[in-house]
Amino acid sequence: MENYKHILLAADFFSHGEAVAARAKDLADKYQAKLSILHVLESLPLTDPAYGSVVPYDMDLTAEMMKAAKKRLAKLGEDLKVPEQSQLIELGSPKLEIVRIAQENKVDLIVVGSHGRHGLALLLGSTANGVLHRATCDVVAVRLPES
Ligand code: AMP
Repeated sequence: MENYKHILLAADFFSHGEAVAARAKDLADKYQAKLSILHVLESLPLTDPAYGSVVPYDMDLTAEMMKAAKKRLAKLGEDLKVPEQSQLIELGSPKLEIVRIAQENKVDLIVVGSHGRHGLALLLGSTANGVLHRATCDVVAVRLPES
């Protein structure tokens, strides 16, 4: 079995995210692998059943959120000693973007939390579940406490 060469940490900046980050860092150190971090800024809702029409996409708000996300990512990158070019931000659906970025960057291990924002009541959150089903490489789901 070959050692992992490129590990991707999927960071949602939610509670217990440090445990996921610490596990990814530990694995990268053990395997002497490159570590990249990806945060996906989820698309803002475009429709609202209450209005029955499309809500205009707010570019200003997205740009502000992107700025805030980049700041959080830079701090995490600094803590984990991950260089800027390996701190990635994408816009879209987390599970799809995590898998796409992993494939494009020849990642051989993805590290996610068992649940985060979307999966508090679930054994496995929807992102972790979606990544596990779609990924073409290994996936580690770090078990996180429910509270
Ligand atoms: P969830 O499906 O929201 O319960 O999240 C499970 C795990 O998926 C989290 O612990 C993260 O590792 C990853 N994840 C969820 N949302 C994002 C996101 N927006 N960007 C990057 N990773 C994410």
